[in-house]
Amino acid sequence: MAIPYDLKLIKPKVKGESDKYSWNLYKYLHKITSTRHEGKYIKNQLEVHWLRHSRFDGEHIEFDQHDLRHFMVGQVIIFPFGLGKSHLNFMNSVLSKGRCENFANVWNKESFTDITDWFFETYLKDGRCIFDREHNMWMTNTDDRYYQINSNNRKCKWCGEHQHREIEKRVEINRIENWVSA
Ligand SMILES: [Zn+2]
Repeated sequence: MAIPYDLKLIKPKVKGESDKYSWNLYKYLHKITSTRHEGKYIKNQLEVHWLRHSRFDGEHIEFDQHDLRHFMVGQVIIFPFGLGKSHLNFMNSVLSKGRCENFANVWNKESFTDITDWFFETYLKDGRCIFDREHNMWMTNTDDRYYQINSNNRKCKWCGEHQHREIEKRVEINRIENWVSA
């Protein structure tokens, strides 16, 4: 599956507000696929890639859909016209700004893994949780994210994950200086 044939599938219910799906990602995809001349090409050519070269420190990071602990949104890059073309948009800028700022590709093709199908299938199913598997990232509009089953259990309404509350006990050690008579 490439980009969803019907973007309404990933359109948040309220205009301008993210819910399970990101308003900014929807807005961006809608905008670039509805431009008069290029839109129809983008719909067929858009690819999502994982950059294996860390943008943070240059380390090599492999994409593994079965182990997403190292899944960082900063490594996800959208190529509106496909990998062969030079224009790219960083997923984290799209999510935070909703704008498409075009960058020139400075990496070679071998640095990328095509995750287009995985990305859209998973995004349709899990929504914004694709960017936050651990459910601890700061995100906007998360008030309605969890369904409280009881005081110790909740379920994520976006991706369906069940979570239980764990109480962590922390013992603090304080060193207090006292001067006592000799
Ligand atoms: Zn979730």
